[in-house]
Amino acid sequence: MSKFLGYCCSICQAEYGPDEVTYTCPKDGGNLNVVLDYERIRKQISPEDLAESHDNSIWRYLPLLPVDDPGHLGTPLRAVGWTPLFTPTRLAQHLGLHHLWLKDDGRNPTASFKDRASAVVIARAQMIGAEVVVTASTGNAGAALAGMAAAAGMPVVILAPKTAPQAKVAQLLIFGARVVLVDGTYDDAFDLSIEAAEAFDWYCRNTGYNPFTAEGKKTAAFEICEQYTYAVGAVREPTLHWETPDAVFVSVGDGNIISGLHKGFKDLLSLGWIERIPKLFGIQSEGSAAIYNAFIKGTEEIVPVKADTIADSISVDLPRDGLRALRAASQTGGAYLTVRDEEILAAVRDLARDAAVFAEPAGATAYAGLVEAVGQNLVQKNEHILVLNTGNGLKDVPAAMKAAGEASVIKPNLEALQQALT
Ligand SMILES: *Cc1c(COP(=O)(O)O)cnc(C)c1O
Ligand SMILES: [Zn+2]
Repeated sequence: MSKFLGYCCSICQAEYGPDEVTYTCPKDGGNLNVVLDYERIRKQISPEDLAESHDNSIWRYLPLLPVDDPGHLGTPLRAVGWTPLFTPTRLAQHLGLHHLWLKDDGRNPTASFKDRASAVVIARAQMIGAEVVVTASTGNAGAALAGMAAAAGMPVVILAPKTAPQAKVAQLLIFGARVVLVDGTYDDAFDLSIEAAEAFDWYCRNTGYNPFTAEGKKTAAFEICEQYTYAVGAVREPTLHWETPDAVFVSVGDGNIISGLHKGFKDLLSLGWIERIPKLFGIQSEGSAAIYNAFIKGTEEIVPVKADTIADSISVDLPRDGLRALRAASQTGGAYLTVRDEEILAAVRDLARDAAVFAEPAGATAYAGLVEAVGQNLVQKNEHILVLNTGNGLKDVPAAMKAAGEASVIKPNLEALQQALT
């Protein structure tokens, strides 16, 4: 376990030992970055070793994670990650791009990117002997925690806003979590869950609060590099280095996915496994754009908004990982963009029809952002662009129906059918 050296505050740079703090910086509430011993990791594992791995999950990267092997072999906890990387040719043609990649994280055990974080938090919870894990969630983080906890046999409590989509609430309930719907916003649920964790001695998974969520999410950056390298380099010699796409597009709510990705790329750069970090483009809904607003103003001060968007998973008043999320774009030469709800629904439709990937609105937001970026000439047609879908469309069927329209109902005869089809 000595590869896990401790934490470093993202605001004041104060350093802490592994057992000195649990969540955020005691001095200023800043998000904590996990500090790893790259020397030690480099001696343990290489890209060549990974090329031989038969573990097609995030756990292939265990030597790069600050947790012990969580066990629970043969459960969905071991099936998180290593999601497919597609080359959506028709989508690329529509955009006039030559090299487009689509990584579908809707194909995780509970159908969202959040499984990566929840799996690693469960591993940490086991290590510190936590008896109950709690999280606030707009739906997916809770569903992921509930699913991973069911795999590990650990009790969890989920606080979600009562407006969470029904399918996500169904996931929470069916996995056996204690579910409490809060008559308020996600932000209200967030504050309450922290209070409850302190009062009842629960371990709190909250996004942008628990430093282990970003460590789980960084595994997507590892997969992006490893899978991309195999995909473009099929004819090349086995290598000690990985290739990277030029830009990665991802949707942003609290900002923990984009900062997790940034951390993953920084890990790989520190290890000497990649030579550069892709430009990270954070896409927010126009109705929930606190980080975008700060990016445009050129300030690191993030002012809360009153969030209102169809993309419930990125509907956030006060982003809990805003500072690191902002830097993920500014330090990599990327940018923040916003898209309107209509553009998000159009993206849900286009992803499904042209790439056969069914995304929930927050997942499709990344692609809507790429459409916007192409329109603004922020990407060049020869660049290698990777878009991440973060959630499956079945999680929000009413939103999909808005994008798809209604089917027609007919009398069961050929004439009626012919009429309906014309
Ligand atoms: C949580 C989530 C996001 C945004 O992640 P943040 O860490 O909040 O920025 C995007 N898409 C989906 C489907 C999500 O569940
Ligand atoms: Zn600090």
